[in-house]
Amino acid sequence: MKVPLLAAMLLLSTISLDSAAVAASPGLHVDQFRAVYEAPKNPAHQGLYEQLKAARTLERLRQFLSFIRLPRVLTLKLAGCDGDDNAAYVPEDLTVTVCYEYLEAVRKIAPTTATPDGVTPDNAVRGPLFEVFLHEVGHALFDQLHIPILGREEDAADQFAAFTLVHLNEQTARDTVLGVGWMYAQEAKEATLSRSTLADVHDLAGQRFYNLLCIAYGAEPRLFADLVEKNYLPADRAEDCADEYGQVAYAIKTLMGRYVDVNTREQVFAQDWAGGRLRKRVGGDTPPH
Ligand SMILES: [Zn+2]
Repeated sequence: MKVPLLAAMLLLSTISLDSAAVAASPGLHVDQFRAVYEAPKNPAHQGLYEQLKAARTLERLRQFLSFIRLPRVLTLKLAGCDGDDNAAYVPEDLTVTVCYEYLEAVRKIAPTTATPDGVTPDNAVRGPLFEVFLHEVGHALFDQLHIPILGREEDAADQFAAFTLVHLNEQTARDTVLGVGWMYAQEAKEATLSRSTLADVHDLAGQRFYNLLCIAYGAEPRLFADLVEKNYLPADRAEDCADEYGQVAYAIKTLMGRYVDVNTREQVFAQDWAGGRLRKRVGGDTPPH
């Protein structure tokens, strides 16, 4: 059969790309995360460091992520960042770092007592801590697994984190989403529409707030129904959130599904983690229309 030239070229380029990827990629393995707590440089962070270490925060995160098959070991690190309240994935070091300063900043804007909506001082810190690690691990996976990205990478990393969060047990999913939502809401109150915030690679805090709530509501409309009833998530946005979630779930499963070791994931899911059992259901089996 005669193959049209363009089709033949596309076919050839696919084959050569695939062969190159296979030849260049080292073996994929589970349990590829390591945990490092760096002693803080600022004595003000000593208490935070000791708390996080005693709670085995990074060990638990490492265990949770162990079902992802990766070519190289990735380090999850808590460290002092000389005053920079940030978090980052550094490809050269294969390291995801969250700064004590970031957690300190999150702690400063946490409520002092539980809010009527159920945001507790504890969840307002734990939620963002977990989310920021997932966001940065998202960047690491895109890089290490050569995941193609449509749209902005920061949005994709936020979506990866949100997708993961909504698969935790109901209580943890809710606590985490509310905790992160609280943080974005406080940041949005302080934000100004400056050139630098508009030019930033991240969405505005207010947009990240609505995006997170939309993914959560789209995935679990019953669990997060009150967010719409109380108008935290406007009805106009809410009506398409199931589709938004479905699109994210389809992309993640299509592009990253083969890097999941199902047996290890089942073991992780069977363990008590982050205050409860993980739910097994993973939505988005069908392509969005
Ligand atoms: Zn990012």
